[in-house]
Amino acid sequence: MYNKCTLCPRECKVNRTNGQIGFCGASDKMEVGRAALHHWEEPSISGKNGSGTVFFAHCTLGCVYCQNISISRRHSKSIVVDENRLAEIFLELQQKNAHNINLVTATHYTFGVCKAIELAKQNGLCIPVLLNCGGYEKTETIKLFNKKIDIYLPDFKYYSSYYSEKYSNAVDYLEICEKAIDEMVKQTGKPNFNKDDILQKGTVIRHLMLPNMLSDTKQVLRRIAENWGDNVLVSLMRQYTPFNMANFPELDRKITDEEYNEAIEYFEMLGLSGYLQESEAATESFIPAFNAHVR
Ligand code: SF4
Repeated sequence: MYNKCTLCPRECKVNRTNGQIGFCGASDKMEVGRAALHHWEEPSISGKNGSGTVFFAHCTLGCVYCQNISISRRHSKSIVVDENRLAEIFLELQQKNAHNINLVTATHYTFGVCKAIELAKQNGLCIPVLLNCGGYEKTETIKLFNKKIDIYLPDFKYYSSYYSEKYSNAVDYLEICEKAIDEMVKQTGKPNFNKDDILQKGTVIRHLMLPNMLSDTKQVLRRIAENWGDNVLVSLMRQYTPFNMANFPELDRKITDEEYNEAIEYFEMLGLSGYLQESEAATESFIPAFNAHVR
């Protein structure tokens, strides 16, 4: 299944089963950088117990400002797990009272991840399963997750193809992302919460604000309002923290209060609902330490 890989819009067509690797850098063996309770997702996802988060190594986007760079890059190495071990990890996180299983950047391992979800459900997994991704996903791949994923948490990073090409090497990001989110919303329907206000079903679109890109942020918010309105929740994030941005000096600072406040005003004017962040979010403590432990 990974022998002529077209899982993501890059469509590298490499044979991942015999050592070839494509843009993402992933072989056919699933690699996990960290699996643990995570308390810094949106309140309806982390709740008081935490979200059972599994961070997969490698990524199909390769953003220059990546906040998870130690595991996302092409040559990064993490712990290899098979479907059985991954299913066990899901069940261990459930045992620790996680509110959900949160699969971060998993679509380049779609087949193994889907199998692990099936195995875990056969063995008692009953909390919602959430797919947390960069938004640059093929609709055909998202369809493979139908009925396995309860909550989608896609990024909607850019409106302008200038920025999406420059910072994520994905000139067609907008078109691909909108089609993928259409499919996600179709699968999940409107957000649905349990009695403790923990999300059980739905799509939450994240937008990470970047410095000097307020007008792009506004266009993204406008498209979200036009396309999906109150069928989705929106998380407007200001936690961007620059690392080694010498080649991109325009990205070498945090988001200012002025930028964020203006974005909030626009968010409210559009009638969006969802989540906003305090300024303290822009610290390294929001970024998980990737020590490759899976327990
Ligand atoms: S998942 Fe990886 S190998 Fe497959 S098409 Fe995408 S970038 Fe290429």
